[in-house]
Amino acid sequence: MKKNNLHPRSLHQGRYNLAELAASLPELTTHVFKNKHDVVTVDFSDPRAVYYLNKALLVHFYKLKYWEIPSGYLCPPIPGRADYLHNIADLLTSEKDDKIPVGSQIKGLDIGTGASAIYPILGNCLFEWSFVATETDEVAFKSAQQNILENGEVIKNVTVVRQMNPTKIFAGIIEKEDQFDFTMSNPPFHASADEAVQATQRKIRNLGTRKSGKATRNFGGRAHELWTEGGELKFIQSMILESRNYANNCKWFTTLVSRKNNLPIFEKILAQVSAKKQRIIEMGQGQKQSRILCWGW
Ligand code: SAH
Repeated sequence: MKKNNLHPRSLHQGRYNLAELAASLPELTTHVFKNKHDVVTVDFSDPRAVYYLNKALLVHFYKLKYWEIPSGYLCPPIPGRADYLHNIADLLTSEKDDKIPVGSQIKGLDIGTGASAIYPILGNCLFEWSFVATETDEVAFKSAQQNILENGEVIKNVTVVRQMNPTKIFAGIIEKEDQFDFTMSNPPFHASADEAVQATQRKIRNLGTRKSGKATRNFGGRAHELWTEGGELKFIQSMILESRNYANNCKWFTTLVSRKNNLPIFEKILAQVSAKKQRIIEMGQGQKQSRILCWGW
């Protein structure tokens, strides 16, 4: 259970201390076992085990009191999600002095926050940043709101708003006078529900612990969360094109890009909209390599 290549400031380096985590969240205890190599672990193909492990991380490291995900919705792995925020902190730091900007005056916009509201939770706990978080799906929206409200003692200055038009990213969200330091997004990246299911089955086969007859999603995720017409290509394309209208409202626009092959296409669109600044930040988590595309004017 070693996690490679995490950000140097990540709180999640090395092996999970499952005894410590189970002490923080007793519900994890029944999912911890010794495998045939005598290693203490959890079954990563069991969605409940994965959920409790990630909830335990939030309770232990970020002092969360509550974190629920409706059945079948995406349960994000915390270390990778935290890394996106550490990288944004670096992006904002290089613009100012050498200090990581901390406090509610730093404002982030999370596009598609999911049922977990994971990015605002982590960004607020790590750096006290304010957030507006958007979501199109009604169930995910309500759950995200609940996850913020129930943690009122530890989480401040986070607002979850419903995006009623799924073809829009910023429209209806960013008002004329709004100023954001950054936007962020983990877009739905598959192009069809079938593709999402196949990817999940592949992932389970790779975990090697279960026969992948039925597509148990180990990190949860209903098909509609994981796919969008045209996949991440179309979603990020729309995001870049729309961002041009909000050039003065935001210092940095950022998004995760899952498919490396899509990068040259995004770079072309950024040139078309005359983006003045552009960066690609590589992120590696275990076997999965990902990257953050950043741009602005
Ligand atoms: N940020 C979460 C969820 C990512 S899944 C995480 O990293 O775990 C992508 C989410 O984007 C889904 O919840 C989906 O419902 C939402 N979504 C799709 N299109 C959207 C749009 N146009 N605006 C806002 N959210 C959108």
